[in-house]
Amino acid sequence: MWLTSTYVADGPVDYGRTDNPTWQAFEQTLGELEAGSALVFSSGMAAISAACGLVPDGSVVVAPRHVYSGTGALLRDAAAAGRVTLREVDVADTAQVLAALPGARLLWLESPTNPMIEVADLRALTAGARAAGALSVVDNTFATPMVQRPLTLGAGVGVHSVTKYLAGHSDVVLGAAVTADDDLHARLRAHRRLHGGIAGPHEVFLALRGVRTLALRVERAQASAAVLAHRLAVHPCVERVRHPSLATDPGHTLATDQMHGYGAMLAVEVRGGAPAAEQVAASTRLWVHATSLGGVESTLERRRRHPAEVATVPESLLRLSVGIEDVEDLWADLDQALRSPTP
Ligand SMILES: *Cc1c(COP(=O)(O)O)cnc(C)c1O
Repeated sequence: MWLTSTYVADGPVDYGRTDNPTWQAFEQTLGELEAGSALVFSSGMAAISAACGLVPDGSVVVAPRHVYSGTGALLRDAAAAGRVTLREVDVADTAQVLAALPGARLLWLESPTNPMIEVADLRALTAGARAAGALSVVDNTFATPMVQRPLTLGAGVGVHSVTKYLAGHSDVVLGAAVTADDDLHARLRAHRRLHGGIAGPHEVFLALRGVRTLALRVERAQASAAVLAHRLAVHPCVERVRHPSLATDPGHTLATDQMHGYGAMLAVEVRGGAPAAEQVAASTRLWVHATSLGGVESTLERRRRHPAEVATVPESLLRLSVGIEDVEDLWADLDQALRSPTP
């Protein structure tokens, strides 16, 4: 780990805001996993800001209605300030997204979405963006490169909250962007240097250590998620479960053929609305009621407790991040919490 702000003159690195050998080690790893060249940022939002900065002011941006709430707030703020024109779409409805593309400069994608777990046909949508002259960016935080590699499905840029699965231990906040395009890579790098959203070497070291077990963690977590999704789907206290391993959404064809597995994020709509969902969150003992996701420990959260979450996300929706604990322990805890009476 390289803890230094300055370097001996005329070496490969000159200053700590420009580069760091610890960053390079992580970037090489993530680049190989995602079939591109990666850049590490101080947070997922710093990487997302840099990617949004790739298109000029005045651009038309097409984005999912149920995009990650931070990205949604960033884009809606930019639209309110007159910097972009925002077209919000249902990302699982391929025809609707394609129809919104003419005149757009940026197609923002997330699949599965946070927190509605909608799956987009990335191959069709990135091809549509290319034909329309728009840059496509895919937030691949939920799927991880173990499940889906956006650049191989035609995306111009992939972004990550490294905070989540890649680092995997709920102990750092970090982000990354990845692209196979040299010009886009140079512009993202310049954004990082000039806007200054740089990562601390210690956090990147921890992420590099975390990523060593990414394949094992994701394999375990998504196998457990599929078991839980199928059991929850027939639980008497559950109205609806959202996980790509279950039957398709009415009216949608989930493009799960582009995924290797289904990911470990699911969403559950509890019978009894917000109070019942709050009661479940307050009654688990193994599952932790907390924001964030992608750690080795299972967490769940009622997303609408955040005022920034959009109103089309159901009040009763709990987002579940399945960790690597024993699946029967996870099930037993969820089952008792779902059955605990609402006061
Ligand atoms: C958490 C998250 C982000 C933001 O990442 P930070 O590391 O918290 O800045 C972006 N996209 C998705 C899908 C996320 O879950």
